[in-house]
Amino acid sequence: MKILANDGISALGKSLLEAAGFTVITEKVAQEELATAVNEQGIEMILVRSATTVRKEVVDACPGLKLIGRGGVGMDNIDVAYAREKGVQVINTPASSSQSVAELVMGHLFALSRFLNDSYKQMESGDFSTLKKNYAKGVELRGKTLGIIGFGRIGQSVASYALGCGMNVIAIDKKSAPIAVQIPLGNGASASVEIIPSTSLSERLGEMDYISIHVPKQADGSAVIAAEQFAKMKKGVRLVNAARGGVINEDHLLSALNSGQVAGCALDVFENEPNPRKDLLSHPKIACTPHIGAATVEAQDRIGEELADLIITAFGKQN
Ligand code: NAD
Repeated sequence: MKILANDGISALGKSLLEAAGFTVITEKVAQEELATAVNEQGIEMILVRSATTVRKEVVDACPGLKLIGRGGVGMDNIDVAYAREKGVQVINTPASSSQSVAELVMGHLFALSRFLNDSYKQMESGDFSTLKKNYAKGVELRGKTLGIIGFGRIGQSVASYALGCGMNVIAIDKKSAPIAVQIPLGNGASASVEIIPSTSLSERLGEMDYISIHVPKQADGSAVIAAEQFAKMKKGVRLVNAARGGVINEDHLLSALNSGQVAGCALDVFENEPNPRKDLLSHPKIACTPHIGAATVEAQDRIGEELADLIITAFGKQN
């Protein structure tokens, strides 16, 4: 069986599939040529990350398609229900990347606190003494309060790192069941802290020094953070969005940054990927990364291995 891994697959995942007799194609096919390539090459499975979309039209155009696999968690780039209705299996690897996304968030929290993004950009051309003064008002994370909106796998992993750094955590979720967050401390030590998520974002926003959002793309496409929520935040709050473009309203974010309500924001995801708006990219108070939350060697190995296991379990070894 032929598998097209259109957004790539780790060497480990590819070798496991090949050892089981599958053919794995990793040459990228342009989005508009996807259906033609699948049909012409007799491809029965498409594996994607977040770049390639597999919509209803591709499913309809490819009657030989048996499986769509998403390396990662969010499946908003696939018409999942429609594909399943048409008998195409759809799989993903929800837990494999949580730790990597959480580490990126922590990197952004530290960087926002010390203006690293803007400082990096200015150092080559700016005056050293002026820059030293401009970045003199950094802040520490320890003792500050982090609000985590969306307390699922990634939210809990972020909590584990933040608690380990001595931050206080307020969790917001639709579900309020208590969660014991495990904190690996190194040298074999560990700790556990119980967090009870609050279901009312608006009541807790004013307590947060930092906010990191980890909800999926909302079914109706609405923003979870927009003008109404920005108005309730503590002045000078710092924000991270490594969830999905659109869960923070980008226009309202720019207004909140320009008014000083928000001191800094890090974005790993954008409404208009892969062409995010330029005023976000060039804003001195915004630090951007190109949707790399899950882009670590470890996460990609876990994803590749899990995809290979799921495919081999579903279709059996081919040799
Ligand atoms: P998850 O399903 O484990 O957790 C999401 C949580 O959000 C759930 O507990 C849910 O109840 C809660 N939630 C949903 N809507 C909410 C709302 N309006 N208010 C409060 N809580 C709400 O998912 P996860 O594995 O933690 O992943 C979260 C999202 O992160 C994914 O859907 C994906 O979009 C994104 N993600 C991004 C990257 C990246 O590269 N930046 C990588 C992986 C995942």
